[in-house]
Amino acid sequence: MAHHQILIVGGGAAGLTVAAQLRRARPQLEIAILEPSADHWYQPGWTLVGGGVFTLEETRRDEGSLIPAGVHWIREAAAGFDPAAATVTTSSGAVLHYDVLVVATGIKLCWDRIEGLRETLGRNGVTSNYSREHVGYTWETIQAFRGGNAIFTFPQTPIKCAGAPQKIMYLADDVFKRSPAVAQATNVIYATATPGIFGIPAFAEPLRGVVARRGIDARYQHTLKAVRGDAKEAVFTVREGESEREEVIPFAMLHVTPPMAAPDVVAQSPLAVEGPGGWVDVDKGTTQHVRFANVFSLGDVSSLPNSKTAAAVRGQAPVLVANLLAHLDGQPLAARYDGYACCPLITGYGRVIMAEFNYEGTPVPSFPLDPTQERWLMWVVKKDLLPWLYWNRMLRGADHERRFMPGVAAPLTQS
Ligand code: FAD
Repeated sequence: MAHHQILIVGGGAAGLTVAAQLRRARPQLEIAILEPSADHWYQPGWTLVGGGVFTLEETRRDEGSLIPAGVHWIREAAAGFDPAAATVTTSSGAVLHYDVLVVATGIKLCWDRIEGLRETLGRNGVTSNYSREHVGYTWETIQAFRGGNAIFTFPQTPIKCAGAPQKIMYLADDVFKRSPAVAQATNVIYATATPGIFGIPAFAEPLRGVVARRGIDARYQHTLKAVRGDAKEAVFTVREGESEREEVIPFAMLHVTPPMAAPDVVAQSPLAVEGPGGWVDVDKGTTQHVRFANVFSLGDVSSLPNSKTAAAVRGQAPVLVANLLAHLDGQPLAARYDGYACCPLITGYGRVIMAEFNYEGTPVPSFPLDPTQERWLMWVVKKDLLPWLYWNRMLRGADHERRFMPGVAAPLTQS
């Protein structure tokens, strides 16, 4: 049976960042990443692919070019976890033993929980920026749109990047308004399972202003349950107090954000929380598993109750790395994650509200500017600076500063 000192499952934003930071902090550690994909995708760029600003290829790199030097890449998926035995079984049936496990498999998109969706996704004006295969179709659909209902949905589960379902709506609305005839014939509908526009009050208020200014028809407590592609009808369950009713809305364009959960291999393992989601059950401060001390988790698959974003990984990784090293050294785990997350809320071409906040929902801006304002500068940060930081700093393990500006860094514990 192969043994690894540190085994990281998932070489996405979180797994690569942790591997790179661990290598920098303690180069002698033996580290393996279990990751089946040959490609790595900068998913935060997909809103701009759907909005015609980036090409999909601009968001791709070879996974091999991002695996830190000296880290062993096992090109397989995890097929089973046995944390009591400290082993992971791979898709080929190999059993890997570890001293410390880091679970970073990301999130599962549950397309099948919406009846009829799979059959029509990519046709009939039904699209999703959450699907790599269909994000290009979003831009095609927006450009071809000539009027009718354009519906943008948000599901009833936690999702990655809670702002993304509305960001693409504002970009689409800008394009529709370029033609007075199209604008006249169009009704943009935001149909969300949530009771409000955004979970953080400080940023919900300006977003309500954006919705009002644009004349968007926001419908709350609306959960998409079925899509009738050929008839171009979306079927919603609408919650009204204690009761529910069904509402059928015809559409010319439908952008779907599917429900999400932990991948089955995690959700069906002893690592999972009890109850919905199946996330890896970790302490919200230390990122250590609550039952298995040699297991840590971060990113979308973890139970950390923050907004699931790549930006949050910037806040989590230095904490996880410091605590993992403390665990190896038999020291108390001193580092604490404060829930930092950032969602660059694109409110149109050239406009972004840079929403940075913590577990308490308190704004924690990296820039000395009112963070609740729409700004062209933050559009530049979103479009140019953040991708650069991701490829050149974060994934290289250099981005110990969890926010954008050096000097406000959460220090990385060196050994
Ligand atoms: P991922 O980056 O998804 O990586 C998971 C990795 O695990 C993948 O490489 C996968 O192949 C691998 N894996 C899966 N199953 C297994 C297995 N069984 N065994 C081994 N490996 C496995 N974030 C922001 O910060 N800002 C934004 O503006 C933003 N916008 C977004 C817009 C869209 C449309 C989308 C889709 C996402 C957006 N995000 C944004 C969210 C961000 O991309 C994720 O939060 C981030 O990628 C999470 O990192 P992760 O490593 O947990 O998951």
